Amino acid sequence: MPRGKQSKGKCTYCGQELAKGAMVKHLSSCAQRQENIEKAERKGGEDETLYHLRVQDAYRSGFWLDLEMRGSATLKDLDNYLRAIWLECCGHLSRFSAGGWGSGEIPKKTRVDKAFGPGVELNHIYDFGTSSETSIKAVSVRQGKPTTSRPIALMARNLMPETKCMECDQPAEFVCLECLEEEDASGMLCNQHAQDHPHDNYGEPLPVVNSPRMGMCGYAGPAEPPY
Ligand SMILES: [Zn+2]
Ligand SMILES: [Zn+2]
Ligand SMILES: [Zn+2]
Ligand SMILES: [Zn+2]
Repeated sequence: MPRGKQSKGKCTYCGQELAKGAMVKHLSSCAQRQENIEKAERKGGEDETLYHLRVQDAYRSGFWLDLEMRGSATLKDLDNYLRAIWLECCGHLSRFSAGGWGSGEIPKKTRVDKAFGPGVELNHIYDFGTSSETSIKAVSVRQGKPTTSRPIALMARNLMPETKCMECDQPAEFVCLECLEEEDASGMLCNQHAQDHPHDNYGEPLPVVNSPRMGMCGYAGPAEPPY
């Protein structure tokens, strides 16, 4: 994956595409989002503490999400969401902690308002063999009515990082696991070069998907938000 180029993402409310570094600020002033918030406020009901969480892969920072999450929801809700949008391949174990492997596990029944405060960063590990590591940081907190009846609202998501075929530089659509595991190559292949690619010890090349788990443990997507 190319380095040095700032990752871009899309605001779920207005559809605008912005650099990763500009998205948090945009979300705090997005007119479309503001409208959603005002609509929710008019509906009445209980106020909640709502957390803006910046989620990103610990190693491939081009994969990131901006979520708004209810304080009364639990880490289990967050785990479910991460599995659905990014991680789930074959039901591996997962854990939250305040640091990496060295720090103690935070139980999944923990409420989000107990686990996070402004600036607090947690670490999520999915699959203790071929691990996917995700960092989750609370970038801001607000009091108000949630804009959705679900525990989480997806506010922004990275656009698919540019991937090029290692043979011809055309956009890649597949990834070869054998290249990744044994050849130390990117394994990225366009449609045409995937067809005559010689490797099959790890199965056929897998489709490229917008998830940091792409190419790990046979992950083939769909990498879609659950709601
Ligand atoms: Zn927007
Ligand atoms: Zn798996
Ligand atoms: Zn290969
Ligand atoms: Zn190619």
